[in-house]
Amino acid sequence: MFIDEKYGLMSSYEELAILKELDNKMRAHRCAEIGCRELIPLRWDYCDKHYQLRMQKYIKAKQISNETKAKTLRGQRELAEQTKVYDKGRRYELHDGFYQSKQWTRVSEFVKQRDGYCDAIDGNLWDKGDLIVDHIIPRRLLSKSEQLDTENLWLLTKRQHNHKTAVESKLNENVLKHAGRNWWINVLSSSKV
Ligand SMILES: [Zn+2]
Repeated sequence: MFIDEKYGLMSSYEELAILKELDNKMRAHRCAEIGCRELIPLRWDYCDKHYQLRMQKYIKAKQISNETKAKTLRGQRELAEQTKVYDKGRRYELHDGFYQSKQWTRVSEFVKQRDGYCDAIDGNLWDKGDLIVDHIIPRRLLSKSEQLDTENLWLLTKRQHNHKTAVESKLNENVLKHAGRNWWINVLSSSKV
């Protein structure tokens, strides 16, 4: 008999192993894509591969619908309104004091050093002043502590940052919350501009 920190009194290592395996099984389920047997955490619906595929499909459809919209006057007004709302959010972000805070100065300096002053998209080396520490998931969609999470921060050049901001203004919050690193690299890499 022994005591495991998490599971308490155990009769044997076999018992512990069984409990751990059960626990893992309960924490995972299969990807929702028909035919896919990938085991994934409970809070996800799809495995990474199928998630990316669905995401690309969604964005593509969204782009097509935006292009169709742009052809009608009403659609143009809607798109302009969407951009206006987004710009307002951006302006608010820039002036609420976050980027002047001590924590941000420290965290952003850390990210620059961690990433060796290279942009996250093409991996080129830049001067300190040419790089922007960017929230991959936009800051306005995050809680206070998440805003300083370095996992969500990376370095972009001004040009890449402008491009990302322009794309962000066309996507809804749900998409923005889920668009990950790889998706953005795909969208922003200079071979596609
Ligand atoms: Zn899958």
